[in-house]
Amino acid sequence: MIIKGGTFGPVATNTYVVFEAPGGPALVVDPAAGSSAWVANTLATNELTPVAVWTTHGHWDHVVEAHVWADRGIPIWAGTGDEDWLRAPAPFNPALFGNPPPTPGVEPARLLRDGDTFAVGGMTFTLLHAPGHSPGCFVAWDRTAGEAMVGDLIFAQGIGRTDFPRSSPVDMMTSLERVLDTLPGDTRIYPGHGPWAVTIADAEPWARMFM
Ligand SMILES: [Zn+2]
Repeated sequence: MIIKGGTFGPVATNTYVVFEAPGGPALVVDPAAGSSAWVANTLATNELTPVAVWTTHGHWDHVVEAHVWADRGIPIWAGTGDEDWLRAPAPFNPALFGNPPPTPGVEPARLLRDGDTFAVGGMTFTLLHAPGHSPGCFVAWDRTAGEAMVGDLIFAQGIGRTDFPRSSPVDMMTSLERVLDTLPGDTRIYPGHGPWAVTIADAEPWARMFM
């Protein structure tokens, strides 16, 4: 698996393009503010066909350019729980996001649940519902490749905030315990902010400082 990452927008959100090999299908993860030109260039450079956009959760900074891809006929896939924020992206924290222009919403083509899987070419991702940072946070884990898109659940050196509207600190602890128990230590994680491709084993001690 090849994962290209870039960091975009007012709160430095990571966008990923995930593929097996050049010339094949690709998955776009979390289309952040200002990411579209980079995504398009990454797809073109590697001669990739985007199969879908996957959003790890519904926070504005992770879904703001989903409409760009939906307008180009690319289906948006998301987990259940934050779908209203995809339909009406909400910059719920002006102190973080300023007052951006209204963001067109999208209707997810697939709403997935805990334990569901989706395939992109030969890659198969299993979904783990990991609420806490928001109700609709999901981890997309490719067990075979040992890679996981973790959104704002866990970072290289920390965890996602739980002081936002609809956050749940209690759910966050349950989700972290479950994901740390489930993913092997050598799994590489791709968070929504900060460094990526660190292992669960490297990230766990930092996460435990907040647990
Ligand atoms: Zn978030």
